[in-house]
Amino acid sequence: MTVVDIKANLKNIFKPEYGHFIAGRWIGSDSGKTIPQINPATGEILSCVQAGNRQDVLRAVAAAEAAYASWSQTTPDERQALLIEIARRMRARNAEYARMECLNNGKTITEATYWDIPIAAAQFDLFAGAAHTLIGETRNYPDALQIVHREPLGVCAQIIPWNVPLLMMAAKIAPALAAGNTVVLKPAESSCLSVLEFFDEMADIIPPGVVNVVTGYGADVGEALVTHPSVRKVAFTGSVPTARKIMQYASANIIPQTMELGGKSAQVVCPTADIDAAVEGAALSTIFNKGEVCLAGSRIYVHSSVKDEFTEKLVRVLNSVRVGDPLNPATQLGALASQAQYEKVTGYFDIGRAEGARVLTGAEPLRVTGLEKGLFVRPTVFDDVSDEMRIAREEIFGPVTAIFTWNREEEVLRSVNNSPYGLAGGIWSNDLNQVHRMSRQMETGTIWVNRYFNAKTGNALGGYKQSGFGREFAHEILGDYTHTKSVVINLQDGPLGVFAKH
Ligand code: NAD
Repeated sequence: MTVVDIKANLKNIFKPEYGHFIAGRWIGSDSGKTIPQINPATGEILSCVQAGNRQDVLRAVAAAEAAYASWSQTTPDERQALLIEIARRMRARNAEYARMECLNNGKTITEATYWDIPIAAAQFDLFAGAAHTLIGETRNYPDALQIVHREPLGVCAQIIPWNVPLLMMAAKIAPALAAGNTVVLKPAESSCLSVLEFFDEMADIIPPGVVNVVTGYGADVGEALVTHPSVRKVAFTGSVPTARKIMQYASANIIPQTMELGGKSAQVVCPTADIDAAVEGAALSTIFNKGEVCLAGSRIYVHSSVKDEFTEKLVRVLNSVRVGDPLNPATQLGALASQAQYEKVTGYFDIGRAEGARVLTGAEPLRVTGLEKGLFVRPTVFDDVSDEMRIAREEIFGPVTAIFTWNREEEVLRSVNNSPYGLAGGIWSNDLNQVHRMSRQMETGTIWVNRYFNAKTGNALGGYKQSGFGREFAHEILGDYTHTKSVVINLQDGPLGVFAKH
C-alpha cells in the first residue's frame, strides 16, 4: 500500500459528535463537555462524545426503569426476535463495524473482521436461543404445590472497557435483554464510537429505554450509576483497581456483581510439545489485539530441553510481524489504543530492563512511514524473567511476552499459580497424562491445550482470584441476570388446627 492509499483508507466515517443514547433518543450531556475520540494510528480526532455526569445518569436510569415495566413482560419470542435481528444486522454491516473498531482502537482490520464482529454477533444469537430456556420449575407435594418463577432483576448497570468495544457490549447486553432486564451501559471514555454507531443503527428496533448509553469518565458516571437505588445489578469488565471501587459502590444498596477483570495468563511448553505450533500460539498471543487482551498468554514457561529451539523460532516469527496501518489487510500488529496505553507499555520496556530481564526482541517504539503520529511498538520478548519481577506479575496489556525456564512439573505449576490473576492459560504437550494433571492444577478459568485463543461460542469466560467472578459468553451468566421466586400453594382446605377452637 502507498501512503496515498493509506490516507484514503483512513477517511473518517463518524459523525462529528455523539450524544448519550437515552430513551431511544440522542441527547447532549448536562455537563456541556465532550471527550475527543482519537485514531491512535494517526493522532487524528475522529469525533467527540459526551462527558457524562450524575444528571445524565439519573435520566438514563429513569428511562431504563420506565422501559422495564413493559420489557419485563415481553414474551421469550419477542426478546428472541429482537436479538436475532440485531445479530443479522451486525453481520450485514461487518465491514463497516470492523472499520470503526480499527479507526478508533487501532486494532487490525483482519482481527476486527474475523474476530470482534462475528463473535459479537454470535452473542446475540446465543442469547436469542437462551430466551426460551428461562423456565421455572414446579415441585409437587401431597399437600402443596411449589412453583419457582425465574424473573429478571430490573435495571442493570454495565460498565465496559475500550479493548474490544463491540464484543464487550454484546456480551453484556445480550444476556441481560434475553432475561427481560433493561440496561444502562457505560462504555469506556476512549474507543467507544463503534458502540454509539451500533445503537444508532439499532434505535428503530430496540424499544426506547430498554438499553441506554451514557458516555464519560468512570469517576463522573460510575459512582452515580452503581449507587443509584433503582439499579439492581452491576456487571463490570475492566481493571482490578476500578473493580475495587465498584464493589464498594455496589455495597451501598447490596446489589449483585459480576466482575471480568485482568489477567497474566501462563502458557506451559512441555518437552513433548509440537514446537512450531507452540511458537505460533505464543507469537499470536503476543500480538493479538496488540496484546490488549485480558486473555493474553503473556507468561510463557518453556521446558529447558526445548528452550533454545522455542525462543530462537519465536524471535524469528515476531521479527517478521508486519506492524503498521490497521486498515491494511496485510498488517498483523496495529496501533496501541491510546497515548496512556502507549506510555504504560513503553514504561514496562524500561521496567523489564531495569529488573534485569534480557530483551530478545523489541522493547522499543516503532515509527511507521506515513503514520508518524501513530502509537506503534515492536513485538517484545523478555527472557530470563523470574516470578517476582513486575513484568511477570503485572498486566502490561501490550505486545509483550515474558519467558521463563522450567525443569520440574511441580515447580512450574507453583510458578504458574504464583500470580494474583487466573483468567486463562495454555498447555503445549503431547503427553496426555501430563495435560490432564496440569490442567487440573492450574488455577484459572480457561485452559487451552495445543491451541491458544481456541474460543468457541458458548464457552464460559471468567476468572479465578483477582481475575474476577461470574462467567460470561455462556448460558450460565443467565443465572446472574435473573432471580428465583418460590410460590408455595397449600392444597388442603381449612385451617391447620394448631389452635383450639374458640
Ligand atoms: P478500567 O478499569 O480503567 O476501565 C474500565 C471501565 O470502567 C471504563 O468504562 C471506565 O471508564 C470505567 N471506570 C473507571 N473508573 C471508574 C469508576 N470509578 N467507577 C465506575 N467506572 C469506572 O479498565 P480499562 O483500562 O478500560 O480496561 C482494561 C482492563 O480490562 C484490563 O485489566 C483487562 O484485562 C480488563 N478486561 C477484562 C476482560 C475479561 O473478560 N476478563 C475483558 C476485557 C478487558
